Amino acid sequence: SKSSWLSRLTSGLSRTGQNISSLFVGVKVDEALFEELETALIMADAGVEATEKLLAALRARVRKEKIADAALVKAALRDLLAEHLAPLEKDFPIDRAAPLVVMIAGVNGAGKTTSIGKLANAFQRQGKSVLLAAGDTFRAAAREQLIAWGTRNNVTVIAQDGGDPAAVAFDAVNAGRARSADVVMVDTAGRLPTQLHLMEELKKIKRVIGKADGQAPHEVLLVVDGNTGQNAISQIRAFDAAIELTGLVVTKLDGTAKGGALAAVAAGSQGVRPVPVYWIGVGEGLEDLQPFVAREFATAVVG
Ligand code: GDP
Repeated sequence: SKSSWLSRLTSGLSRTGQNISSLFVGVKVDEALFEELETALIMADAGVEATEKLLAALRARVRKEKIADAALVKAALRDLLAEHLAPLEKDFPIDRAAPLVVMIAGVNGAGKTTSIGKLANAFQRQGKSVLLAAGDTFRAAAREQLIAWGTRNNVTVIAQDGGDPAAVAFDAVNAGRARSADVVMVDTAGRLPTQLHLMEELKKIKRVIGKADGQAPHEVLLVVDGNTGQNAISQIRAFDAAIELTGLVVTKLDGTAKGGALAAVAAGSQGVRPVPVYWIGVGEGLEDLQPFVAREFATAVVG
């Protein structure tokens, strides 16, 4: 249920011992409080830029509204964080093409396979037919896993034994059209055998998908492990430069205190483009992929 994943998110985000909510209990509104907040936001991997921006806005609001009660400072921070994160909130436009072609990238271990499974399941529950392209042709095990998963869940998986990932993607888009699928999800490798360059490989896959359908891929998603905080920022920057991301799936936010990294993304810190966060992963179960809602997230972080 909604409340259970929100509480997992909340407990995950407060795992540093820097529970932001607790900083407001029984204290005066003074410089010491702002300094504690600064430390907590930095520790949550919000980054210096977003932290400074949020705290400057908070100080200004506290001064202007003459807020003297710490509980009201907390409410103001929650509001400011929600406003700050709001540009990352966007509904996934599933009906904008048929089939909608979604290319999915991410480094190994980020939660790509799990997220693809959760997404396929969510789309099916919305009455959409789903086709998957097993684009990680470098890992036989990944392909086998996806095929087995597809068989269990009634999802067609287009695969090729050790073939060219771009060719698999091309075939999948054509198969999706021929079968009138609603959504084609193209999985890609998260690591390549040596000598080959992952970003070049991904660019090629994207280009070849465009040859099968001039408008595709309609969405280019990056799955990032929210637990890696500032590392996630570098990944977003690198993948965006190569394949122009249209959205993010941020996983493992149920077990991390580094969810503040989303504030860094929203701030466009360190040269990152603020890319919409379509979903957040809050557990390993099929239903543990939730749309990103800025206000809910801000409430989970601040309390
Ligand atoms: P891939 O290499 O990117 O395909 O990663 P996997 O999908 O295999 O996921 C790696 C591990 O992370 C698995 O044990 C998943 O169950 C776990 N995982 C993925 N998403 C989440 C999440 O949102 N929360 C938690 N707690 N675990 C996750």
